Amino acid sequence: MALASRYPDVEIPDLSVPEFVLAGGASRPDAPALVDGLTGDSISHGQLATYVDRVAAALAARGLRKGDVVAVLCPNTMWYPVVFHGIARAGCVMSPINSLYTAHEVAFQLKDSGAKVLVTVSPFLDRALEAVEQTPVDEVVVMDGAEGHASLLDLITSDAPSVQVDIDPAEDLVTLPYSSGTTGLPKGVMLTHRNLVANVSQSRPLVELHEGDERIIAVLPFFHIYGLTVLMNQGLQWGGTVVTLPRFDLEQFLRTIQDHKITRAFVAPPIVLALAKHPMVDQFDLSSLRSITSGAAPLDEALAQAAQDRLRKGADAGVVVAQGYGMTELSPVSHTTPDANRLPAGVTSVPKGSVGLALPNTECRLVDPSTGQDAAAGERGELWVRGPQVMKGYLNNQKATDETLDAEGWLHTGDVAVVDENGCYTVVDRVKELIKYKGYQVAPAELEAVLLGNPAIADAAVIGVKDEESGEELPKAFVVRAPGAELTEEEVMDYAGSRLAPHKKIRAVEFIDQVPKSAAGKILRKDLKARA
Ligand code: ATP
Ligand code: MG
Repeated sequence: MALASRYPDVEIPDLSVPEFVLAGGASRPDAPALVDGLTGDSISHGQLATYVDRVAAALAARGLRKGDVVAVLCPNTMWYPVVFHGIARAGCVMSPINSLYTAHEVAFQLKDSGAKVLVTVSPFLDRALEAVEQTPVDEVVVMDGAEGHASLLDLITSDAPSVQVDIDPAEDLVTLPYSSGTTGLPKGVMLTHRNLVANVSQSRPLVELHEGDERIIAVLPFFHIYGLTVLMNQGLQWGGTVVTLPRFDLEQFLRTIQDHKITRAFVAPPIVLALAKHPMVDQFDLSSLRSITSGAAPLDEALAQAAQDRLRKGADAGVVVAQGYGMTELSPVSHTTPDANRLPAGVTSVPKGSVGLALPNTECRLVDPSTGQDAAAGERGELWVRGPQVMKGYLNNQKATDETLDAEGWLHTGDVAVVDENGCYTVVDRVKELIKYKGYQVAPAELEAVLLGNPAIADAAVIGVKDEESGEELPKAFVVRAPGAELTEEEVMDYAGSRLAPHKKIRAVEFIDQVPKSAAGKILRKDLKARA
């Protein structure tokens, strides 16, 4: 049975991504669209529109045509949106590459996507050139310039004629991100103009927008769909100002929020962890923040509450720390927590441990993976999602597409969730990461949440390790001690054991300096498995 969204459907404009997104700032051409959080340099909404037109013209003049793939390997800078929208306006498809990838991984994505041009920055040039050698890429553009390569300045000062490419938003791809590769090899996810236009439109009724007065901090990478849609495109479509930071550094992050009076932060759990626990947070004035939304990985309820309580102390306005949920295949958002006065009728609050409500135009199912039937009310099941944000499919991978996207348009997320009577969903864990112990399913995220409740634990990750003797998967915790804390393996096991049912006991502990996490804040369990 399909569970409908609690929100009425919204209309999705039949526009290309640049038409839709750039219209947001058209009435405020002189207001800053993008600001470099480190230098304070900025690009106005008016300049952005002009630069995008020039980049598109320059790409077309190079012979790039509708459907051609242009890859981008670049950290967050205020120029990234210029490049993305320029590529999109030319009718080409932007394939964003993870900045941390090795030359080998970059080459995989360039080959798999069939990219014709690679746009990068000079600090990444050696890696880019090494990758390109083994691929069909014709040209490498270096945004900040390098001998023998066109620069972004060359593109935005091009005198090539403007292009008008006919785009069919429902059919034509605008971006080809690769899923994180947390559970297997990354896959090219085909997203259309309509997918991205839809996702920004669907999120809009859940936000109490302060017209002309929203400043979004963009520290999560634009190369991940979360950064591209939620930080970049949503922020620009609001007519707001997107303040970019090239990497996460806590002090820089806090200073940027304070100095630029940031109103909205879309982050991942490690940042909320820092906001809740790090002493440095108290030295900054973060009172401009209206909401902090965490996504990309599970956020523990107590941690969210602790961060919110701490930030609210002494402030007149109350920041809300809450959660959203998504995946690359969903452009990425299917669920999020609305602003307090944007709750659907009859709902008074959203539990902090939940990922909020399904967006408008979004249907859900919770399906028992063993029977294929809908789970009983209040029971957990695999989350299936249907809506205009669902991807077209995986590139050149019909098998994976068929396994994930069924004939009726349901996207099988691979995540286990429950829904309460208010329509608030809680993601319990990933189907693939559940630890199977004596016939029980143990959710690593639940164990991690318990461990994080211990003040002597700064961070923790749990995986299942195969016990050769019994053949069972045993929950093993990797624990980072809090500064100055003395904590033994016994104490960790006792702490968790006294708070959890016997089958969820942690049966091995290893202390580590840092939990390995992806740039988007996901625990890299495959690295921990390799280590175990
Ligand atoms: P791959 O599919 O290549 O293995 P991935 O699934 O990690 O990688 P993404 O598309 O970046 O790649 O991540 C989507 C996943 O992130 C979801 O399927 C879900 O497991 C997780 N996720 C996102 N938001 C949340 C959240 N709020 N709570 C729990 N998990 C979340
Ligand atoms: Mg996935």
